[in-house]
Amino acid sequence: MTALLELEGLAKHFPVRDALGRARGAVRAVDGVSLSVEAGTVLAIVGESGCGKSTLGRLALRLIEPDAGRLRFAGEDLRALSPRALRARRRDMQLIFQDPFASLDPRMTVEDAILEPLRLHDVVQRGGERARVRQLLERVGLRPDMARRWPHEFSGGQRQRIAIARALASGPKLVIGDEPVSALDVSVQAQVVNLLQDLIRELGLTFVLISHDLGVVRHIADRVAVMYLGQIVEEGPAAAVFGAPRHPYTRALLAAVPGTGAKAALVEGDPPSPIAPPAGCRFHTRCPFAEAVCRTEVPGLAGGEHRAACHLQDRLPPAPALRERVAG
Ligand code: SF4
Ligand code: MG
Repeated sequence: MTALLELEGLAKHFPVRDALGRARGAVRAVDGVSLSVEAGTVLAIVGESGCGKSTLGRLALRLIEPDAGRLRFAGEDLRALSPRALRARRRDMQLIFQDPFASLDPRMTVEDAILEPLRLHDVVQRGGERARVRQLLERVGLRPDMARRWPHEFSGGQRQRIAIARALASGPKLVIGDEPVSALDVSVQAQVVNLLQDLIRELGLTFVLISHDLGVVRHIADRVAVMYLGQIVEEGPAAAVFGAPRHPYTRALLAAVPGTGAKAALVEGDPPSPIAPPAGCRFHTRCPFAEAVCRTEVPGLAGGEHRAACHLQDRLPPAPALRERVAG
């Protein structure tokens, strides 16, 4: 297998200023992330809100500039591309946003919204664009004659389908979905997840799913990366991460998966400030297993195919009840 997307030591810090404009440190939104996504697979990036996963998704497509690190798409150094070359490369890399209400221009018909990327990237021959729009609408489960309507005439689920059609218009190889169903009614979420799953399979897409909802991730991911305070704390095949989580934070997240009868999160309290993350293991302030070493030594990601950043990962008690809960 070959990696379509490779991130190495990627970092992005956002300066924080007080009311008088004085520098007050920086939010370490993404703090040294290395990941690679094989072509044709689905990687899920999970974690609590504010852990940096949305920033990471935007960095991966160079929608925002990293402060440090390497970024390769199909072997090409994305950070070395000129703005013009990067615009051309956008054809292959698309983002689906969380909010289908905000991601469509209310002054554009559905047809015009989907025509825009088709024309920008010169995807279809002149004269064939409108037929292609109708095909795309059908492909996402909407009627072709809906092309002439306006975004406000659609429900949230339909708008997200339109946004998906728009993202697919240029024929991308890589799609990043940033919480693509979390703004939708629960009853509609499964339908849109199923649609995404079908599209991924049929089009052979490489997909990065950013989500705080492990129930959604479980259905769709080949691999899972767990993020905490700007860093990856665990990464591996989905079955391994869900079946035998190695990091205490992952265990806590899994224990809080809705529908498992264990809604009460094991992660107590709020995450610490990403402006001044704790020394040593960043999770030590909330970890039930923390020892002295955890407060001083930074644990590296270790363990090969299924990696975790925890000093105690080989000594933690097994979590059999947890395994049963997430197996169904
Ligand atoms: Fe908990 Fe220590 Fe492991 Fe961090 S390194 S997750 S504090 S046991
Ligand atoms: Mg987010």
